[in-house]
Amino acid sequence: MSAMNSLNSLKSHYGAFVDEVQQCCLEYHRTPDDVRIVAVSKTVGVDVVAQGIEAGIRDFGENRPDDLTLKGQAFPDRTWHFIGNIQSRKIPAIVAQADLIHSLYQAHHIELLEKSAASLGKVQKVLLEVNVAREANKQGLAPQELAGMLEQCSAQPHIQVCGLMTMAPQGDLIQAQECFENLAELAQNMRKSLSNVLVEQEFRELSMGMSEDWRPALAAGATIIRIGRLIFDDTYRT
Ligand SMILES: *Cc1c(COP(=O)(O)O)cnc(C)c1O
Repeated sequence: MSAMNSLNSLKSHYGAFVDEVQQCCLEYHRTPDDVRIVAVSKTVGVDVVAQGIEAGIRDFGENRPDDLTLKGQAFPDRTWHFIGNIQSRKIPAIVAQADLIHSLYQAHHIELLEKSAASLGKVQKVLLEVNVAREANKQGLAPQELAGMLEQCSAQPHIQVCGLMTMAPQGDLIQAQECFENLAELAQNMRKSLSNVLVEQEFRELSMGMSEDWRPALAAGATIIRIGRLIFDDTYRT
């Protein structure tokens, strides 16, 4: 495919996906403006990100700090999301580039995040990752660890917890839906129990739903869906 053709096809393909998301929002009585599509660009290079920007993508997600830095610095006017595993030594680089970190779940990272954010004079927005279905081999907080973690974060002046994130069990949309509903309920409980330290508008994000399961995520109240293959993988284009 020529560069021009592939640009046109990403543009029309992404446009069609946005339409589909909006249609789905109406079906579920959601306001389309309340749902953000994060295009997960971890499998593509800077050239395709540039095409994505041409196609109208505003939010990009990366799961490797080095790619986040490379692509984020190339396109500083976009919103960059870090969705990957956090390693202590990479925290300064992540904080330097990420508008929103989706994947905080380890308490020992809080102090490092606070220090990095303070030194940059920014308030780092984060989501707490929850392993809702308690799957082995999956990262994230157990639901009962959430309140304590949230309290620790709330004590940090340069960290703002904006909501929760999860990854659903793969391959079963019924299970996925249940997982998303549970995350929404956890968030609701957090809002109630911690209303003294949290302003409700500040704790509003639910980052859940990927290429396979974004519809049930929207139905359960997702405010951010993280879409990789459905946007960037040719085999998903019809
Ligand atoms: C890769 C990735 C996605 C996107 O997955 P797709 O199935 O390609 O849409 C979303 N969230 C996280 C955390 C990821 O690592």
